[in-house]
Amino acid sequence: MERTRITIFDTTLRDGEQSPGCSMNVQEKQKLARQLDRLGVDVIEAGFPIASDGDFTAVQSIAAEIRRPIICGLARAVPQDIERAWQALKGAARPRIHVFLATSDIHLQYKLKISRQKCLEQAREAVRLAKSFCQDVEFSPEDATRTDMHFLCEVLNEVIEAGATTLNIPDTVGYSVPADFGAFIREISQKVKNQEKGVVISAHCHNDLGLAVANTLAAIEAGARQVECAINGIGERAGNAALEEIVMSLRIRPDQYAYDTDVVSEQLYPTSQMLCDTIGVPVQPNKAIIGRNAFAHAAGIHQDGMLKNPLTYEIITPKTVGVPDSTLVLGKHSGRHALAQRYEKLGHEFDRRELDELYRRFVLLADKIKTVEDRHLLDLIKGRRTPDHTQPFAVAASAAAGQSSREPLHKPGPAAFSADPNASTPQLSPGSEHHGEQEDYLWGV
Ligand SMILES: [Zn+2]
Repeated sequence: MERTRITIFDTTLRDGEQSPGCSMNVQEKQKLARQLDRLGVDVIEAGFPIASDGDFTAVQSIAAEIRRPIICGLARAVPQDIERAWQALKGAARPRIHVFLATSDIHLQYKLKISRQKCLEQAREAVRLAKSFCQDVEFSPEDATRTDMHFLCEVLNEVIEAGATTLNIPDTVGYSVPADFGAFIREISQKVKNQEKGVVISAHCHNDLGLAVANTLAAIEAGARQVECAINGIGERAGNAALEEIVMSLRIRPDQYAYDTDVVSEQLYPTSQMLCDTIGVPVQPNKAIIGRNAFAHAAGIHQDGMLKNPLTYEIITPKTVGVPDSTLVLGKHSGRHALAQRYEKLGHEFDRRELDELYRRFVLLADKIKTVEDRHLLDLIKGRRTPDHTQPFAVAASAAAGQSSREPLHKPGPAAFSADPNASTPQLSPGSEHHGEQEDYLWGV
């Protein structure tokens, strides 16, 4: 099956940066732009040059330094914006001016206070001016999804004539659902002369209903060949469509989507992390693709399956998106197998009896603290509070040495395990009594 290429237009540094708490200075934008280049995005929208001197400088320096992707700057449909955008962009290897003008009646009437006729003329003149500077011109009819279809197509045909090379259709207010947004894009590509002119249709979705990615995918199916998105889904209000989710949906379901991108998926997690560090805004733990818990398996039955074959519960390997390692979160729902595996990673191997005993102690501890960390596990085998029992286990395995010179068990009575300083007489919790061999597979289902 022939696969169609989708242009990934990243707007983390523009729409994303405009959102509360996400602003970046020049150096931060430059650093992110270098990472977006490594990630393999096709277009970097670096900023809104007329908005501030800082944004102008950021766009200018990114244009000067980052040479592979197209560098884009935003401009309202007025001469001073377009000229300022061009001043910032002119040093780019591949510059693009992105002109926008609202087209919905509600925006024309209340925000711009202009007629449809005036809107049509302004759009045409703005694109014409941009084209006089730059071959690559994108036009966005702001609030497109609430614009009368007939008028919208009129504007789009007008800007195609004026030289626009990409028509970006924004669902500015995030009101669309996939079926109607897909139909909307399809109708536009049937009614405007984009194909005969080689003009690309693009989608720009906002996440007010949590549907930005779904709407974007619907747009692709309906003929959009560029998608606008942001790392971690940052952007105005509820954000933009999340780049990492779009890219991985296409990659993981090629049976549904015969489309490719040039994104280097292994750079998704590093890029996400860099953005979080830069703006100081973390992503929710359960965020798809790059959230802290996206690859954390806490339920015992899941952990056991994961250890036998990650495909049991993992549709994306952590490595694919650049996450260092799949995280099995050890808690009271974990089974023996997960515990043994973690100990192995820490350089300790146990026989069955040793592990049983350790497991009992582990469950006691996990009942008290939510997440058992590596240091707790090491405490469990050290038996810190019982120096008399210096070697509860004669464990000599070392991950570093790769050796496993295991010796017979040195009588580990329950008291030998006293990682919990408060448990002078450890009592097994009622649940943990039932942790027989089979329960590992049932626990936490
Ligand atoms: Zn937007």
